[in-house]
Amino acid sequence: MPTMVRNNQLGPTTFSDDSTGQKPVVWQGRGDPNRQDVRPVHDALLESVYFQQALENGVFSILDNDQERRAIQDAHRANFQAAQERRQHVGEEFIDAQPSQDIIVTECIGPKGHTGQLCGETVTLTAEQRGVVPPLCLRHIPLKPQFVATPTGKVVDGKPEVTWSRSKLGQTLDH
Ligand SMILES: [Zn+2]
Repeated sequence: MPTMVRNNQLGPTTFSDDSTGQKPVVWQGRGDPNRQDVRPVHDALLESVYFQQALENGVFSILDNDQERRAIQDAHRANFQAAQERRQHVGEEFIDAQPSQDIIVTECIGPKGHTGQLCGETVTLTAEQRGVVPPLCLRHIPLKPQFVATPTGKVVDGKPEVTWSRSKLGQTLDH
């Protein structure tokens, strides 16, 4: 049985990892009235390192409460039946108009000891978080308040591109 996974992001979210051979999974935003914020996820995707990181970062969480899981599966079933009826009545595919939100895989910009190099650990961010949250791995996330975003003046995918710099004040917190 696939694992039920909840999207904790406010907007629709897509996760894909081609190396798992699984199709991308699309969630609606948290609190979606049709409960599409919870989707079944194949074990192969669950074992993806990037998926595990998204779980650790709180992008997704695993639904382990049986009662809640059953309630959501019932909602999905009702939803599916309603969609089928709509299709029969309208005679067209049910199209999801909301843009989906991709997971961006990037590298941690935390300090690598006192070497002056960057940590480089893989970090997953949602498109919504990009330019808002500094890319930091679990070990470096406590340094988040030290990072300041500076807009580069460029716009990438409709969002202002930023560079992150770290304030000198916090260097005593280096690992
Ligand atoms: Zn790091």
